[in-house]
Amino acid sequence: NPLARAQYMLAAHLPRQLPPDGGFEVAFAGRSNAGKSSALNALCQQNALARVSKTPGRTQQLVYFEMPQHPDRFLVDLPGYGYAKVPHDLREHWQAFLDTYFRTRLALRGLVVVMDIRHPLKDYDRHMLNYTVERGLPAHALLTKADKLSRGAVGNAVQAVRRDLAQSFGDTVSVQAFSGESKLGVDEARGVICSWLEI
Ligand code: GDP
Repeated sequence: NPLARAQYMLAAHLPRQLPPDGGFEVAFAGRSNAGKSSALNALCQQNALARVSKTPGRTQQLVYFEMPQHPDRFLVDLPGYGYAKVPHDLREHWQAFLDTYFRTRLALRGLVVVMDIRHPLKDYDRHMLNYTVERGLPAHALLTKADKLSRGAVGNAVQAVRRDLAQSFGDTVSVQAFSGESKLGVDEARGVICSWLEI
């Protein structure tokens, strides 16, 4: 697993704190509680990798994880949405930062959107998908907590989201079922991410 040695590198709340824009990176977005940390941990086969993104003060930052054996390859945790208690000016700052990041970051190769399979495609999820598709970048949707539904219900949910996204975004967004709990779909998701990172 090329992601197994991922480790915390830095957290940025300003564009100038980002690493040099010469590498390859994949960003992860998801409403809080969707299961993004669990997904990152499962993909990297670590128990507490993404815990760092949840420490106070980091909920409005881009958190970078590096792969020591693959220089300039990064996973980027975008934790900043769905947190109710963020003051207004901080929220505006965060929006502006995210906007700049998506519009200008050359290293960005694709976006993984983590959604609870029972509550997919909320406004913010679509907003994040819009950013990437506008840039001409691919996105991959993980419908997580699939272990909470029957196999039939999982299939139906995946089909419904696929149809919806195909209508909105064409074939630039792919969709799969996932579970950080049962590890369903972990290999498939890792395959997509590693192909974007060319590792
Ligand atoms: P985040 O806020 O998006 O990073 O979400 P977390 O990864 O912290 O998960 C939020 C809650 O959902 C936690 O209680 C997790 O244990 C639970 N959870 C996350 N992924 C799964 C999953 O695949 N299956 C189940 N059953 N629970 C999950």
